[in-house]
Amino acid sequence: MTLINKTKNPDHSILAVGSVAFDSIKTPSGTADKILGGSANYFSLSASYFTTLKLVGVVGEDFPSSHFKVLADRGIDTTGLEKAKGKTFHWVGEYGQDLNEAKTIDTQLNVFEHFNPKLPEEYKKAPYLFLANINPELQLDVYHQCERPKFVAADSMNLWINIKKPQLLETLKVVNLLTINEGEAFLLSGKDNIVDAADAIRKMGPKALVVKRGEYGALLFTDNGIFSAPALPLKTVKDPTGAGDTFAGGLIGYLANKGIDKDFAKHEATLREAVIFGCVMASFTVEDFGFSNLLEVNSELMGERYRQFISMTRF
Ligand code: AMP
Repeated sequence: MTLINKTKNPDHSILAVGSVAFDSIKTPSGTADKILGGSANYFSLSASYFTTLKLVGVVGEDFPSSHFKVLADRGIDTTGLEKAKGKTFHWVGEYGQDLNEAKTIDTQLNVFEHFNPKLPEEYKKAPYLFLANINPELQLDVYHQCERPKFVAADSMNLWINIKKPQLLETLKVVNLLTINEGEAFLLSGKDNIVDAADAIRKMGPKALVVKRGEYGALLFTDNGIFSAPALPLKTVKDPTGAGDTFAGGLIGYLANKGIDKDFAKHEATLREAVIFGCVMASFTVEDFGFSNLLEVNSELMGERYRQFISMTRF
């Protein structure tokens, strides 16, 4: 049984801005040097199983042109993905035995340092906006170029909380749903208890908050209460890079597919299903380095894992 039919209806389309990157990664399972990654890449590839996307970002002259075709083949519009003089964003990260925590060794912003996004006209009417992890000033700039999107979701990380907190707080004022790692929720809120942290963050703007807890799953906080989703226990976890963005792609992709608005009180059941789809999509990414596994997903595999979640949590 197919659970999800991808929609090509422009009323369900997502505009995503974020990093398009080269990643160099070391995990206990091995290493990968300068493979394709970035928050917007993982997000869009994951969400592309649910709806169509418009991508905003910048790459350098060293970026392989063939990847534009990979994105286009998945229904991702790359008109807003600029090719600039210079080098592509490069993130160097490492994981120890605790795969839930990435240690950033180096962040080379390169072409992102002077990126000044100019949205193509046809992008401005996108109903769903995802501000993937990137400089919060860029996130807000893209938001302001849009013509009143119906639903705004965002992600961020410790680097931006540490160096651009006032700018991030400005961005959060326009965000309806935020996804963030547990440790980053503590850092952003200054609290050391997750319920207190969620209360504090929800007062900053986002009425819905999803706290990502790596192999322990995710927590959804709304006015309706708390929903807790586990992660799928997997035999093989090689590289958690991109799990958070892939999760967000499943979550926001599903919400866009269903066409929900930001009146969360009306959509609690859909939000909970969306969190599970986020966990389903993330489970594919972590099984291998990069997003090669994510490209092999299909609706049958998604359905199979979704049903595993149902049987795993029923009692
Ligand atoms: P995650 O889904 O949280 O594992 O995010 C992984 C992706 O985030 C990697 O592919 C990196 O290229 C990207 N990334 C790492 N640091 C940053 C940053 N400071 N800004 C934007 N993207 C980043």
